[in-house]
Amino acid sequence: MTTLFISDLHLDESRPDISRAFFKFLERETPHAEALYILGDFFEVWVGDDDDSEFSREIVESLRNISDKGTALYFMHGNRDFLVGDTFTKETGATLLPDPSVIELYGEPVLLMHGDSLCTLDEDYMIFRQQARSPEWQQQLMSHSLAERRIIAADLRLKSQSMNSLKAEDIMDVTPSEVSKVMELKQVKHLIHGHTHRPARHPLSLKSGKAERIVLGDWHDHGWVLRVSPDAYSLEQFLI
Ligand code: MN
Repeated sequence: MTTLFISDLHLDESRPDISRAFFKFLERETPHAEALYILGDFFEVWVGDDDDSEFSREIVESLRNISDKGTALYFMHGNRDFLVGDTFTKETGATLLPDPSVIELYGEPVLLMHGDSLCTLDEDYMIFRQQARSPEWQQQLMSHSLAERRIIAADLRLKSQSMNSLKAEDIMDVTPSEVSKVMELKQVKHLIHGHTHRPARHPLSLKSGKAERIVLGDWHDHGWVLRVSPDAYSLEQFLI
């Protein structure tokens, strides 16, 4: 029994090597996995479920293929693919998870987050986040045609190059007090998140005892997966 966790692939047409690595990963890993959790920023950008580009269709099909074969698929929004919606989940067979979510993992409650909400010191980003997650803002965005949304996304991307908080290398790290607060509130000993591109396992001491924060890695240079079985957590890097 194995459950897999990945995040921050930032799949994009300009990086076909990452998409290929993802397809290979699915082929290699999912036949032995009961579930695959994708914890946000799976796409570099998602302009809407009606995106009919060959790139998007290929990714959707690859996910459909593994859920058809019996691997349960879960998807959490990141700060780049927050427009993933019901059509995407229907087409892929994935279940959309709210951020944060507590799941039951081999008898233990585990907290899952994308991770951006933990970076509370990045005030500009926290303001953007609140806006980007509001249904009104998203509806307004979705009222534009697909072609217009592609232009808006490209424009946002240009702007983000001057906005620290959306540049991978400048993403601020989590606020330690925020981590303790949310883990104590949710009464968990394990937190799994991505976003910061700082893959690591961090032992923690909470009021309730020993705990651990596991950070998934981005797929810019290597692939990363967290593999969980009933008796072990293993954070692994591989070549893409
Ligand atoms: Mn992110």
